[in-house]
Amino acid sequence: MELTKAEAEIFVPDGKPIEEALARTTHMGVGAHQDDLEIMAFDGILKCFHAKGNSFTGVTVTDGSGSPRADLYRQYTDEMMGPIRGVEQKKAAVIGEYGAQALLNFPSKEVKDGSNPGPVSDLKALLDAARPGVVYTHNLADKHDTHVAVALRVIQAVRDLPAEARPSALYGCEVWRDLDWMADADKVLFDLAPHQNLAAALMGVFDSQVCGGKRYDLAAMGRRQAHATFFESHGVDDTTHRAYAMDLTPLIHDLTLDPLALLEEHVQRFRNEVATRVRNMGG
Ligand SMILES: [Zn+2]
Repeated sequence: MELTKAEAEIFVPDGKPIEEALARTTHMGVGAHQDDLEIMAFDGILKCFHAKGNSFTGVTVTDGSGSPRADLYRQYTDEMMGPIRGVEQKKAAVIGEYGAQALLNFPSKEVKDGSNPGPVSDLKALLDAARPGVVYTHNLADKHDTHVAVALRVIQAVRDLPAEARPSALYGCEVWRDLDWMADADKVLFDLAPHQNLAAALMGVFDSQVCGGKRYDLAAMGRRQAHATFFESHGVDDTTHRAYAMDLTPLIHDLTLDPLALLEEHVQRFRNEVATRVRNMGG
């Protein structure tokens, strides 16, 4: 497969030829950085782990060179960090038994540049070769610019495909902003209770981030536990770990629907819900 960047690669943990590895894909995660998939797309990883007939393909869009660093990584340059993070992402692909892991290696600024055709072109080629039924990416209300840019590039790539090649579901998942604020009826719920050991291993492998000064492993697990308990105020917990997603599937079915309009509908429903409650309680 022709990808834009010379440094781009598609890693196949079990050594199958790339085309064959991609063709078996049922679930695909597309994240901006090395470790985003493990934080936000664990539902897809779980659904493919030792599940006959299912296969998870991870796609990491940026080269990861600009991450904050501490501890033994303090002296590392951006040029040194990128390859280290790529190796970490491949370790996660081995542990999670991904069918394939693509590293597109775009600098963040190229992903954030909406006029750069490279990211959409690569995503389109991967989606077409993999034909996943379910795609996980960032949600549109994330507060990290590169995450939102990746979500928009994924939406564009999906829309550019012929209708029969598009996934049946597209989910915007949680990394740099959780989705607790969304109206409950709008939340896509993922039960992430199984295989906590796998979840911990997948996030623990990103040593340059965790040891490098950000406890994403503890934070992501804590968020899943918080969501499990705080979702339903009048019922007992029905799971121990949960994640939410914003359903971006309407953008696949209606090509005239503006992604910003879909996001604004969610924000409007949040606004209406909290305002109504305050009014009803005498405010
Ligand atoms: Zn990220």
